[in-house]
Amino acid sequence: MKIRVVVDRDLCIGAASCVTIAPETFQLNDENLAVVLDHGTEPGGRTFERTLEVNEEEYENILLGAQSCPTLAISIFKEDGTKVFPDV
Ligand code: SF4
Repeated sequence: MKIRVVVDRDLCIGAASCVTIAPETFQLNDENLAVVLDHGTEPGGRTFERTLEVNEEEYENILLGAQSCPTLAISIFKEDGTKVFPDV
């Protein structure tokens, strides 16, 4: 499945719990803000949002990473644009 992962750089406080849970998807940049990786790589350079092709296991892990964020800085969307997380 395809998902879109977006980090709100204004909300991210560099707590890095997302990085701990899903290091293949989240890493901190020089400013201590989480950037989104595609399976550990950065095609097209560093970015705060990316569309990823993931399997169910990878999806669950990325969702856990997003849920771990203390400021809800990470949003996840389905391919059709529906927001999966956070659901507020
Ligand atoms: S868990 Fe949230 S605040 Fe911490 S680095 Fe990740 S996106 Fe930023």
